[in-house]
Amino acid sequence: MPNRAAWAEVNLAAYAQNIEEIKKCVRPGARLCMVVKADAYGHGAIPCARVAVAHGASYLAVATISEGVELREAGFTQPILLLGLILPEEAADVVAYDITQTVCTRELAAALSAAAVAQGKTAKVHLKVETGMGRIGVRPEEAAELAAYVAGLPGLVLEGVFSHFATADDRDKTYARAQLAAFQRALAAIEARGIHVQLRHIAESAAILELPEAHLDMVRVGIIQHGLWPSAEVAHPIALRETMRLLARVVFLKRVHAGESIGYGRAFVARRESVVATLPIGYADGYIRAYGAEGYAVIRGQRAPICGRVCMDQVMVDVTDIPGVAVGDTALLFGGEALPTDTAARWLDTINYEVTCLVAPRVPRVYV
Ligand code: PLP
Repeated sequence: MPNRAAWAEVNLAAYAQNIEEIKKCVRPGARLCMVVKADAYGHGAIPCARVAVAHGASYLAVATISEGVELREAGFTQPILLLGLILPEEAADVVAYDITQTVCTRELAAALSAAAVAQGKTAKVHLKVETGMGRIGVRPEEAAELAAYVAGLPGLVLEGVFSHFATADDRDKTYARAQLAAFQRALAAIEARGIHVQLRHIAESAAILELPEAHLDMVRVGIIQHGLWPSAEVAHPIALRETMRLLARVVFLKRVHAGESIGYGRAFVARRESVVATLPIGYADGYIRAYGAEGYAVIRGQRAPICGRVCMDQVMVDVTDIPGVAVGDTALLFGGEALPTDTAARWLDTINYEVTCLVAPRVPRVYV
């Protein structure tokens, strides 16, 4: 049991099943890169990566050096791609931990080469091509020149070239297809220089589901591993199950008379004789104040609307209409069929990705 009455349950059996489902839509032969950055979108990088590797993931992807180091220190020997950029002065760390670094400038490539030479190692890099995401990457028309420079540096291996879609989760795939075409042109120009690229990749979850022509040598599996869809517009060709449920137990119950208020700012005032439950979870846990506007918990299968403002460590919910609620009852805050993460995302005017990423490190993860 967790050491507090609020926790995030992560169902690793459902997670494993999701990966098996995802494999059904990935081009045979394409490698699976499991994106476990941001603590696997809040689900726990180490437990998720263990299951992912056991189910065929042969690459892992992170966003920061410390995320890569955490995986290495947990014993993962698989290649780890750091999807973002680092500063040249951080090059020695990624080389020391055998992290494959994304590059899109000569300066970073040169710093990685120098670090590799100094450490007597060969460092792998992936070249990022900017095809329309507008975030990081070398322009397609400059990619071959940079690839040739990188490939010529001592201590470096240009293992991969990749790009990232901006709109693959839209129903209209026109822009995504244009990005893919720009990427293919850049790849052709690189190969025309006699540079063989082992791993060409561009597909994330949405493209895994809906753009099979983009699967290439590797796909980067993100949100779908957790049983969540990248948007409301993508098809559901496989059966996924949400793996995370945010839960808290009722620690206090009280009768509230009409006219009495609940919480900061007296934002909730009882209009009738009520029963209010306190749950030990709040905005410092990632159960942010914005939940207060429309949110509810599910207790005994029924909705318990949030009363007023979410506090830092506690939230109060109205259980007047739920018979028999007792201290110790478990409340579901989001996750699964009873209260889908997408519903919670709508309350916050955000996406499911942000809902699970918000769950703070101090919330214990319980793996079932
Ligand atoms: N690839 C890159 C470069 C990313 O930044 C991300 C996520 O942000 C992913 C892949 C995974 O995306 P998704 O979770 O939509 O599959």
